[in-house]
Amino acid sequence: MPSSSVSVTSPVIVWLRNDMRLHDNPALYHASKMGVPVICVYIDDTVTPCRDYYASGAVRVWNHHALVDLQKNIQQIGGNVWIFQGNPYNILTDIIQKTGAKTVFWNRLYAPSEIARDTAIKSSLKESGIEVKTFSATFLNEPHTVLNKEGGFYKVYTPYRKAVESRGLEHALPPCPVPDSVMAYSESDIKSLHISDIFPLPIHPDWASNLVGHWDISESAAHKHLSSFAKNRMEHYKTGRDFPAQNYVSYLSPYLARGMITPHFILNFIKNYPESAGKTHFISEILWREFSGYLLFHFPYMQQTNFRPVWDNFPWEHNESLLKSWKTGQTGIPIIDAGMRKLRQTGYMHNRVRMLVGSFLVKHLLINWTHGESWFRDNLFDFDVANNIAGWQWVAGSGADAAPYFRIFNPILQSKKFDGDAVYIKKYVPELSKLPADMIHAPFDYSDGELIGYGVILGKTYPKPIVDIMQGRDKALELYKKFNISPQDESGT
Ligand code: FAD
Repeated sequence: MPSSSVSVTSPVIVWLRNDMRLHDNPALYHASKMGVPVICVYIDDTVTPCRDYYASGAVRVWNHHALVDLQKNIQQIGGNVWIFQGNPYNILTDIIQKTGAKTVFWNRLYAPSEIARDTAIKSSLKESGIEVKTFSATFLNEPHTVLNKEGGFYKVYTPYRKAVESRGLEHALPPCPVPDSVMAYSESDIKSLHISDIFPLPIHPDWASNLVGHWDISESAAHKHLSSFAKNRMEHYKTGRDFPAQNYVSYLSPYLARGMITPHFILNFIKNYPESAGKTHFISEILWREFSGYLLFHFPYMQQTNFRPVWDNFPWEHNESLLKSWKTGQTGIPIIDAGMRKLRQTGYMHNRVRMLVGSFLVKHLLINWTHGESWFRDNLFDFDVANNIAGWQWVAGSGADAAPYFRIFNPILQSKKFDGDAVYIKKYVPELSKLPADMIHAPFDYSDGELIGYGVILGKTYPKPIVDIMQGRDKALELYKKFNISPQDESGT
């Protein structure tokens, strides 16, 4: 039963989850329009399986700063964020009891554990007479709304994209406005923790402080990234996006992943920019994000296992020492090492390089993609359960609409093609920086005598390659053949 603080103006609760923003935040906006005090609540869920989505060091460091920014922004419009840690249901019911709130608002989330948790909480609250109002904000198209002609689900990206485009992408626009003000809840019946109580800094080992220096973790920074991308780079995105040393991508992923910006906001922002191949391609990447969420929603088993069951018993060759070389950027293959070191230094990796390091791990080293997925999960600021799993299963060939099993990226050729001047490699593998560009992609092709003049001694100043690229490729293909992964299994539906 609510306590004596119940009044005709019972406050409403906004449960903020992956919603670190004021713009296009329907739960917050609609609560602010109720004309009653608003209790914004952030709960670090340490109890339900959802905690795994936010457990990684990088994500918790990002969330510390994101929450500082959100608190500041909400206070500027008159509100406050109350911070808690533990079981969301218990915490919400405790707040309801102490404040007499009768309504809870939140924006919907779609990963399997989130759906299970939120559905259970919603029905328990409703049983206790509490109204729950939920909103669509995370995707342009909620996963359950996109069906094929037979009423089933798409498993291949292009028909999915065509289906959502045919509905008109603008149907989701315009985004929700920023609330002018939030009526403060001023009674002290509830006790908030500090941000540092739930996301303490520094974390140990403290590699993350350095990562933060590469980012401005704020909602306004998300808008700045979008604006500078749309103005200066979007037009050239289609051709430029494959070159990791060139600045053609948007860098919006951590902001999208942590809910500091929404796809509605992005599409609305770019709608008045001239049409171009770059703009079209950028929208199609935003739709890839939606497709990953869609796949995980409809095929939740992907979170634990392969989309294509034929891969479940694949004889991966686990080798801890090779895995460690990969994680630490000490494989002796410069483009791979550059990508892995960049990840560790900045919490980010360019998409082309993600594909290369992923392919190298699962195809050249024959290590199960789940190990790569979990390293990315720990280190990426933009870690997103659906995108990460879909990305890794795409690379491994075990996912929906995945890269064909026989496509094994040659990291040396890819390095020459997409980092021709070796600007990326030189930045992250400085011990090779004196080598001329034509030698740096594969230093192991040169003799000790040829390398020494550039300060490189393989096995001493830089590792010898941990695998022979051609032999690794042949071995993987041989194994796929033996294991009966056939083109038929790759057809997709
Ligand atoms: P841009 O090129 O500017 O793209 C704009 C937005 O579109 C991105 O922010 C992202 O939300 C979406 N997007 C772009 N490419 C993809 C893609 N291939 N799949 C799905 N969405 C895409 N992305 C994550 O956000 N979180 C992850 O945990 C993640 N893990 C990945 C793991 C692997 C093995 C691979 C191959 C890809 C992964 N991606 C992941 C997808 C992609 O690499 C990143 O979204 C992209 O590099 C982010 O940089 P950006 O924002 O500058 O991208």
